[in-house]
Amino acid sequence: MKIFHKRPVLLEFAYATTRVCLSPFRRWLKSGGFIEAVFVRGEKITKGIFFDCKMCGDCVLHSTGMTCPMTCPKNLRNGPCGGVRANGHCEIVPEMMCVWVMAWERSKKMPAYGAQIENILPPLDKRLENSSAWINDFRDDVKTSPLGWTE
Ligand code: SF4
Repeated sequence: MKIFHKRPVLLEFAYATTRVCLSPFRRWLKSGGFIEAVFVRGEKITKGIFFDCKMCGDCVLHSTGMTCPMTCPKNLRNGPCGGVRANGHCEIVPEMMCVWVMAWERSKKMPAYGAQIENILPPLDKRLENSSAWINDFRDDVKTSPLGWTE
């Protein structure tokens, strides 16, 4: 999958295309039924292969350079900690490049969503874990931001 990670624009295009294709069906995208079970299975497989997805249920890939922030050993969703090594590697897993160094570099290659990396993301709602991020994305009743959160 290195080819895709070197060309995040392809992943960005796949994200945008999937979103457009699913939009007409949003009224059928509901939680808790057969459709969600299919989505969960599909997301586990596809996003697992491409992004090492941890099924957080609140996907922010398009805001993080198509780099999953949940693969950060500290699960940081708003930029790196203070422990990034001089070579750009992680302080917890030295052989691993910092997720946020990769996210920043990849964002620069994403014309449509790249600038979103500068947005501050709300805290993760852990209740969404193992649910379908795509369905959550289309559900109006899912509020992933806690009460009182302002961007
Ligand atoms: S942000 Fe969440 S849903 Fe998206 S790839 Fe990472 S763990 Fe999976």
